[in-house]
Amino acid sequence: MKHKIVLTALLAGSFFMANAQQAAKPEDTEVWTPEPAVVTPGKTCGDAPSDAIVLFDGSNQDQWVSAQDRTQPANWVIADGIWTVNKSAGNIETKKTFTNYQLHVEWREPVDIAGTGQARGNSGVFMASLGKGDAGYELQVLDSYNNKTYVNGMAGSIYKQFIPLANPTRPPGEWQTYDVIWTAPVFNDDGSLKSPARATVIFNGVLVENNVELLGPTKYIGKPEYSKHGPSPIKLQAHGDKSIPLSFRNIWVRELP
Ligand code: MG
Repeated sequence: MKHKIVLTALLAGSFFMANAQQAAKPEDTEVWTPEPAVVTPGKTCGDAPSDAIVLFDGSNQDQWVSAQDRTQPANWVIADGIWTVNKSAGNIETKKTFTNYQLHVEWREPVDIAGTGQARGNSGVFMASLGKGDAGYELQVLDSYNNKTYVNGMAGSIYKQFIPLANPTRPPGEWQTYDVIWTAPVFNDDGSLKSPARATVIFNGVLVENNVELLGPTKYIGKPEYSKHGPSPIKLQAHGDKSIPLSFRNIWVRELP
């Protein structure tokens, strides 16, 4: 008798389980809307896709202004579609401001670059510029091909904060690519930090910064510290080192929600 009750209970249990499994369908976990926007990709993976804002295509620097005085033009040097740093003109930044984005930048150190350490082809991509000079969050640009320096200041570093995971730098004279995913910091109404800035950086196709949480805007001396800001321009650095100026080309950005 006892065995019969147990058997009946077991049978009932498996009946309900089978029933529950029959009730669940593959369609239950399919999502059909909203559909992602159609984007036409570039011909090769460095080309701007159809929804990108082109910041520099080799023809003009109309998207940029002087970071020192935003009423003044950028005044770097364009020749043969290549844009070379003008150290006397100083840092430049975009007219437009951004929050979260995907950015593509190409840069090239001169083949006859000289100097050592930080004084060898130094520049930078400030993922959010916070005003004149070097205020902002700097992704370092440097000739790091056989050029020793502090590793949190080499190419691919978030300057003085995050060491790159690898060093895929090409020799001077060759074009290099940065692909950046930038998530801007978020602040509370009282100015305190709600969530830090985050950056992912792919350098010549190699992941060098994996969704790192920044400690604050870049500081040359001392510890970084956040202070509240809104959407910001993207800035390129005209570093004061004595080496021959480097060049840029093919810069575009896609705004992200
Ligand atoms: Mg720099």
